[in-house]
Amino acid sequence: MDLRKRTWAEISLENIEHNYRAIRARLPEGCKFLGVVKADAYGHGAVAVSKRLEALGAEYLAVSCLDEAVELREAGIGTPILILGHTPWEYTGELIARDLTQTVTCEAKAREYSKVAAALGGTLRVHIKVDTGMSRLGFLCAGGHFDLGVENIISACTLPGLDPEGIYTHFALSDEEGEDARAFTLGQFELFMRVIECVSKKGGVNFKIRHCANSGAVVNYEGMCLDMVRPGLLLYGYGDGGKLGLRPCMSLMTHVSTIKYIDEGLPVSYGGVFTTPRRTRMGVIPIGYADGLMRSLSNRCSFATASGMAPQRGRICMDMCMIDLTDLPDVNLESLIEIFGEHASVEELARTAGTIPYELLCSVSKRVPRVYAPSKIK
Ligand SMILES: *Cc1c(COP(=O)(O)O)cnc(C)c1O
Repeated sequence: MDLRKRTWAEISLENIEHNYRAIRARLPEGCKFLGVVKADAYGHGAVAVSKRLEALGAEYLAVSCLDEAVELREAGIGTPILILGHTPWEYTGELIARDLTQTVTCEAKAREYSKVAAALGGTLRVHIKVDTGMSRLGFLCAGGHFDLGVENIISACTLPGLDPEGIYTHFALSDEEGEDARAFTLGQFELFMRVIECVSKKGGVNFKIRHCANSGAVVNYEGMCLDMVRPGLLLYGYGDGGKLGLRPCMSLMTHVSTIKYIDEGLPVSYGGVFTTPRRTRMGVIPIGYADGLMRSLSNRCSFATASGMAPQRGRICMDMCMIDLTDLPDVNLESLIEIFGEHASVEELARTAGTIPYELLCSVSKRVPRVYAPSKIK
């Protein structure tokens, strides 16, 4: 252990590779793989993850905004990159110069991009986003909006200066269980296919890349892969319900920085929400909510040590928190502690926090260095 690192996130690119191959093995022949690396690759480090995916032959990457895309291009990543969110039209020139693919979510924005691209004498590659029920971004096509939606997509795609390479939609319930969620997802898919068909028939516009499958759809819905899939969470080792044998890729690690004996009946940390029920061997670990360990987990979680789980005690502070080592006499100063990873499931920690693994992974803050070499507690 490098003692300058108080707390760090160990990232296994080998496990990213394992997960990539496991997902790829499920895809039909010829289906492209878009790796979602937004939010710094769900906290795993977008540049390192993207480089590995590029080397493995992923055909596309996706980020949420221009800055995230620029970071990858500056790092020398040449794979096509789709920006999932909005980019203001003022940046059209940069989108073209950096060879980025922009999502287009309505006709008005298509017109703005088209105007600038045409004035620059360039072409902006775009993917059309269809809102089939997520009620977030995209051309509204549900119910009574169908005809106008189709018409608007056609006019967006026939504007000068735009190359409509792809079309996509996003599922709201593909990772939820139950018949209602299934019916809703099938409805979204059916609507998406109908939009594509109608745009082709009425406008003669055909897309090279049609895509809709996020992690939930890759796992739960065969036949929705189309020309490309768009998994994020699966790549990082979660969301398959054990079906794909995925491996977690991030272990959030820290170590014991102080140990002391606290007498029975004393309050621990801010607010005194925990009182020692016995003389307690208390460890202080240098991780707190400024590192991404949510304060809402205070007094309700445990972390992995080499000899078992250590319960966390009292409020989690900004930079540190306390763990009970009374029953773990082998855990000493500098012993490694895994907050989550291979031994302590981030899914369980997320449940305790009332959230999802996504949020815990991308909450690991920038103060926490990412380390791309395995050490691990064994
Ligand atoms: C984040 C995102 C994904 C990936 O979602 P996962 O659930 O992590 O697979 C796919 N598509 C879009 C549009 C997204 O925003």
